[in-house]
Amino acid sequence: MAQAQPISFNRHPYADGSAKKMLIDGQWVNAASGKTFESHNPATGELLATVAEGDKADIDSAVAAARRAFEGPWSKFTPFERQNLLLKFADLIEKHFDELSTLDTLDMGAPLSRTRAGKLRVLGMLRFYAGQATSIHGETIENSLPGEVFSYTLKEPVGVVGAIIPWNSPLTASIWKIGPALATGCTVVLKPAEEAPLTPLRLGELALEAGVPPGVINVVPGYGETAGAALAAHPDVDKVAFTGSHLTGQAIVKASAGNLKRVSLELGGKSPDIVFADADIDAAVPGAAMAVFANSGQICSAGTRLFVEQRIYDEFVGKVAEFGKGLKVGNGIDPEVQIGPLVSQEQLSRVTGYFDVGQKEGASAVVGGKRLTEGNLGKGYFVPPTVFANVRDEMRIAQEEIFGPVISAISFKDADELVKRANATNFGLGSGVWTRDVSKAHKFAKAIRAGSVWVNCYQAMDPAVPFGGYKMSGYGRESGIQHVEEYLNVKAVWIKTA
Ligand code: ADP
Repeated sequence: MAQAQPISFNRHPYADGSAKKMLIDGQWVNAASGKTFESHNPATGELLATVAEGDKADIDSAVAAARRAFEGPWSKFTPFERQNLLLKFADLIEKHFDELSTLDTLDMGAPLSRTRAGKLRVLGMLRFYAGQATSIHGETIENSLPGEVFSYTLKEPVGVVGAIIPWNSPLTASIWKIGPALATGCTVVLKPAEEAPLTPLRLGELALEAGVPPGVINVVPGYGETAGAALAAHPDVDKVAFTGSHLTGQAIVKASAGNLKRVSLELGGKSPDIVFADADIDAAVPGAAMAVFANSGQICSAGTRLFVEQRIYDEFVGKVAEFGKGLKVGNGIDPEVQIGPLVSQEQLSRVTGYFDVGQKEGASAVVGGKRLTEGNLGKGYFVPPTVFANVRDEMRIAQEEIFGPVISAISFKDADELVKRANATNFGLGSGVWTRDVSKAHKFAKAIRAGSVWVNCYQAMDPAVPFGGYKMSGYGRESGIQHVEEYLNVKAVWIKTA
């Protein structure tokens, strides 16, 4: 098969520097305020598009459109029709996948080697949700009431969903919200991250082409404090599905209190990745390294607290550092590049700030630890894969989410105490265990307080397998039938038959 060629930025049909409107009620419109913001390529600083900047007024229009659609013809779509629509949407995404994955690369920096590799997962997700559309069912429940009273449950769509997504994986994040919403018969107002609005807008266009009725999917780009906050607080939104930082998650929960809307939160993490001396080291080195370096560490479940058994600590940490050094960092539009830039100046300041914090706390950067500025890298927000050794549990670099390609390597001796140490975090999203000992693997899988445990692998994901957090990593699950349930209400029906 011929290798797909990279599309250069100025030839990309959706990132040619031109103006982009927002999608409300099936129409492409400017912001009510007339305001716009710019979207730039974080690898080069080049302007990709000028985007309509939605705020409260636009959110109000979009929510009204979503409500009309929810109560209008969309409510008459049968499960089979919703399934077919999702399958058609998936086919269109498949047809345009190179374009969409390139747009993700241009807008937020993840290399093509990563965004293109997501094809099967993205398509699998939509097709999984399509299947779920025809699997929704209530139950008949035997009750103990005297007389003849029959009881059963109905599952009904929750209504208008406000979907607020981050920038670290715009295509996947959009599908993760649109898929279950359409499967269940909900409607959506999607608020992309201000750093990366282009793929969600293009998806809105493809949804219309697939035949999604006006108002069922609305896409309103804008800033978090304005458009995002308006959506979270909106009295006519029935559910907010949010992915992002725990601080914003807290703001959203507070904002949701006005109408007690349902909220699901997929937040940050500081996930432990544990390597025992009996592990298959050749597999654990790249596994533990890419558990953090993938997407430049901008993944909520990244295995950033690397616990390594003391007797292999120096050797293992050295090998992970070597591996990191060998990764090609650069503009992700080059298909050979493995590590792209960070998404923004803000992220760059945050990550380089933690480089300083780590040094001051007494950890030593075995590799990386400084911004990259040679040649063209100086035009973007590049940092190298970084490994801090001699990290102690209480250091800030072992406690706080950095959201960069930064491993904090911590040594351990006592496996029993390790469980406590691994769980000594406010977060609980991912976790990893590398060992050849199956009983150790099971023991840790049970003891770790996190929504996912990966044994001898990391970041394995499947549309049918639930993903989500414990503790301050949030609540609710994405993927799996649990995800679909989050978009449904349960109604109990009682019928006296006597
Ligand atoms: P990050 O810090 O990684 O950018 P955020 O949690 O700030 O993560 O952003 C994730 C999403 O939440 C973005 O779409 C952003 O615009 C939105 N957002 C930020 N602040 C708020 C807020 N106060 N209310 C609602 N949404 C917000």
